[in-house]
Amino acid sequence: MFLFLYKIIIFSSDELIIYININTLLVCAVVVNGKLCKNPSFATADDFSYSGLNVPGNTSTQLRGHVNLITADLMPGLNTLGVSLARIDFEPNGGLNPPHYHPRASEVLLVLEGTLYAGFVTSNPDHRLFSKILKPGDLFVFPFGLVHFQMNVGNTPAVAIAALTSQNPGVNTVANAIFGANWPINAEVLTTAFHLDKKLVEDLQSQEWVNPS
Ligand code: MN
Repeated sequence: MFLFLYKIIIFSSDELIIYININTLLVCAVVVNGKLCKNPSFATADDFSYSGLNVPGNTSTQLRGHVNLITADLMPGLNTLGVSLARIDFEPNGGLNPPHYHPRASEVLLVLEGTLYAGFVTSNPDHRLFSKILKPGDLFVFPFGLVHFQMNVGNTPAVAIAALTSQNPGVNTVANAIFGANWPINAEVLTTAFHLDKKLVEDLQSQEWVNPS
């Protein structure tokens, strides 16, 4: 416990003096979902703020959709608070946020503009699909860790805001993880698992799998 009385002074090469309070170090030098706590002495209001979610994302992409997820990487004040936010843009007639899951979060989606077909699938053994057509003002919740998706089924652009219950929810895009794995998964595994012809598996594995963000 005597360590709590100490302070360490480090002189770096540019003679910047850094004080590390051992008490802080012990409590806060902890990686939270891969992110170190910031010394509160150096925190500013900007750490708790982010600007730019009024700007539509670039939807000229493979999936014709774009996810702008603001995690603790972009907004340090989120760290340890268990919350993050995303803006999702969809091009008309099929713009897609493809099937994916968040290993560390549930998600609640609010549609601001457009018409979305959204759903999630429950885990083994039932794999029940819960899906709905959503209009502006509608909410839909995707429970923790379940595969979910949204597609714009209207003929105008769609915009949604998603709140997630982690400062670093993680995203695992299913198709990309399976067919875009680096290194590729042995095709025999996918041939059997997906009931596919090996040639088709190899063709899928040779394609580019672009993440929606
Ligand atoms: Mn999601």
